[in-house]
Amino acid sequence: MIAVTDSCPNCCRRGVEPIAVRRRGDAIAHGYQCPGCGHRWATSRLLSAYSEIHRARRHRDNSAAARTACDPTTGSHPNTAA
Ligand SMILES: [Zn+2]
Repeated sequence: MIAVTDSCPNCCRRGVEPIAVRRRGDAIAHGYQCPGCGHRWATSRLLSAYSEIHRARRHRDNSAAARTACDPTTGSHPNTAA
């Protein structure tokens, strides 16, 4: 699990770790409480957005393998996909 730290929007303290993580569908929300000033806030991120970024990066880094490998998520072959 990757530690998702954030900066306090109130006092600008950096590296604040989440005190709560809640996943809802495609989104994951982190709740934070600043150990410096006690300010509380929350952020939410879309998991699907991250997976798209990772997929694009993988294809770019290893394009030759990506062209010949079947896509495990759909079972379709990239060469024959429209
Ligand atoms: Zn703070």
